[in-house]
Amino acid sequence: MNILVTAAEITPFAKAGGLADVVASLSKEWSLLGHNVIVVIPKYGMIDLTLYSITPTNIIIEVPMGYWKEYARLWKGKIPGSDVDVYFLESADYFDRRGIYGDREGYTDNHKRFTFLSRAAFEVAKALNFKPDILHAHDYHTSLALAFLKIFYKYDPLFSKTAGVYTIHNMGYQGQYLPSTILPLMGVNTRDFYAGSWYEHDGIFNSMKVGIMFADKVTAVSPTYAKEIRWTSLGEGMQPYLNSKGGDVIGILNGTDYTEWNPELDDLIYKQYTQNDLETKEHNKQLFLKEHCPQQKTLSYDVPLVGMVARLTKQKGIDVLEQILESYLYAGVFRFAVLGSGEKRFEDYFRYLERKYSDRVIVHLGYNNALSHKIIAASDFLMMPSLYEPCGLTQMYALKYGTVPIVRSTGGLSDTVLEYNRNTSQGTGFLFYGYNAHDLGLTVNRALSVYKTHPHWNIIRTNGINADFSASRSAEEYIKAFQWALEKV
Ligand code: ADP
Repeated sequence: MNILVTAAEITPFAKAGGLADVVASLSKEWSLLGHNVIVVIPKYGMIDLTLYSITPTNIIIEVPMGYWKEYARLWKGKIPGSDVDVYFLESADYFDRRGIYGDREGYTDNHKRFTFLSRAAFEVAKALNFKPDILHAHDYHTSLALAFLKIFYKYDPLFSKTAGVYTIHNMGYQGQYLPSTILPLMGVNTRDFYAGSWYEHDGIFNSMKVGIMFADKVTAVSPTYAKEIRWTSLGEGMQPYLNSKGGDVIGILNGTDYTEWNPELDDLIYKQYTQNDLETKEHNKQLFLKEHCPQQKTLSYDVPLVGMVARLTKQKGIDVLEQILESYLYAGVFRFAVLGSGEKRFEDYFRYLERKYSDRVIVHLGYNNALSHKIIAASDFLMMPSLYEPCGLTQMYALKYGTVPIVRSTGGLSDTVLEYNRNTSQGTGFLFYGYNAHDLGLTVNRALSVYKTHPHWNIIRTNGINADFSASRSAEEYIKAFQWALEKV
């Protein structure tokens, strides 16, 4: 199959969260399965062109933006360790900035930037004479591509047999704009916007709805999330539209790239280890504490280390964690290491804890890939009490590193973490249901009770290491969904 992928993020070039990892790992796996994949993303100002050998081409594409046209030079690189071509759109106006979505606040011209990206994907394919069987767009940033396919490009022989597949990674961000600003940019008559039209939700233009309605198949990033967005308030208003699509909405669990996230091969961690050599995991913890928490000597190394790597947003459950965390830290029950950035109130909170409990709290605000690997390898437990979690990759990485996840049972967390049962010795982590501090506290206590308890401590970690959430399985499921989508064209 020829697969044209467009997204706002891709690892390792430009990453804000799990979306980037999934776009890269799926593309790599499809290529290994023998499919031809090209990826179109913006050439953001922060991409390290030299490090990744990204070079300019002579191709300049013309992108229709309503009444006028805009231009982009294409730059080209490959996803490291693969044969997948990535085309970067150079546009000084739209993309030559430090951020993907914004600095702290979202950029005010995101509607233009993402309309441009969604439309440019087709023009890149035209310039390369690439005839896609599948257009695969991710989240609201590139959802307009699904509309462009059906409105403009299906009349072009290059795309007349192309099916559009839309993957929802996060319903919490929908791309709502004033119809009068976005429709002219899309080249769509504002008269096409009316109550009940495919562009409208709650009286305003909604990019998420556009993706859902114009796609041949819609996928969500885990089976549980696919149900939650259809049947619960996690659908954020999109429930009726998803339900109108019937069987065209599918849940496909994300997979992980075990060439990047594998303690046996990972050269970003202090010492590599296997499931038969979990004492070396302990060395990772000690070396991490020595490096990042010089005052640690007041507490023994035996005190468990709870780690967290996440965007610091409400979604990640920090407001519930806040209600119990300090009491554990005060009592010295565990150490806590967090890496993340996001809302100021959460950043301030973690800074406060770090100041007050400097011998047991390690806080790194910002984005740091190497440190994320180190924290996951060094921690005994991973904390992920998410309010909602479409899939979540961090808990899958943690499992592979023998780091026991403590998670809320929602979305992909329910699909990937199984409660540990001392009687059967089955299970990989600890889950709670109610989004409240009481339930989280009970679960933390359950988790702490297996720490270094023979034989459970080794069994639960080994169970996690052996759980398989590889991207290859996920990629094959997408290919099946693509085949179903093609039946509709
Ligand atoms: P989401 O997509 O909601 O952000 P996921 O768990 O699916 O959550 O994916 C998050 C990804 O981003 C993981 O690969 C995680 O390691 C990474 N990540 C999150 N915050 C940071 C950070 N501050 N520094 C480095 N990596 C981070």
